Amino acid sequence: MNRRIGLLGGTFDPVHNGHLRSALEVREWLGLDELRLVPSARPPHRAIPGADAEQRLDMVRLAVRGDTGLQVDDRELLRERPSYTVETLELVRAEAGTDAALFFVLGWDAFCALPSWHRWPELLDLCSLVVLQRPDYDLEVPEVLKDLMAARSVTDPAEARATHGEIIPLVQTPLAISATHIRSLLAERRSPRFLLPDAVLDYIETKGLYQP
Ligand code: ATP
Repeated sequence: MNRRIGLLGGTFDPVHNGHLRSALEVREWLGLDELRLVPSARPPHRAIPGADAEQRLDMVRLAVRGDTGLQVDDRELLRERPSYTVETLELVRAEAGTDAALFFVLGWDAFCALPSWHRWPELLDLCSLVVLQRPDYDLEVPEVLKDLMAARSVTDPAEARATHGEIIPLVQTPLAISATHIRSLLAERRSPRFLLPDAVLDYIETKGLYQP
């Protein structure tokens, strides 16, 4: 069978159990050979993150350490200029070949913002999109995406066999965890323990990240 690769991009500032549990479930539901977390270097759409690139990468590496079935792809952090998802997917597609099935995984909030992404209509020529529910976001999907969803959605993840071009809404275990919430807990000197891996929290404490 052709190789099946999933990518979950994000700032991971910090990585948390909402990311990790979703990634694991996507990997299992779609029968992926690998699921890579791809930390973004200088996110084109976001405010400056609270931890620097190296620290965010360290935390993601700590989070997937051991037998988690998840990998880290650091290519966006190694680039000099802002990294666009479409460019990353072009590189991964070139490496994996046309036979590979590529899946870009994103939460509902990120999906609703898709029309603001650089060259977004080309994404479906490169990969399929796996859209995760986010219980902590109640967003209306833009009209342009409604039409696209009507045309491209695959309702049963087990039916997602294409190499690219499909939209796969996934009802994973809902975890209302966000990096914003974790940063604000830390800023108030409250504990975010059990919202993220212990190893990541230990790193945050050792480095004194997200302090008021
Ligand atoms: P912030 O609160 O700083 O915006 P975040 O928690 O949304 O951060 P990101 O690194 O921006 O984390 O997220 C990377 C990807 O993971 C995005 O597509 C986002 O929608 C998705 N995601 C983040 N948290 C969850 C969650 N709890 N459940 C499902 N998807 C999530």
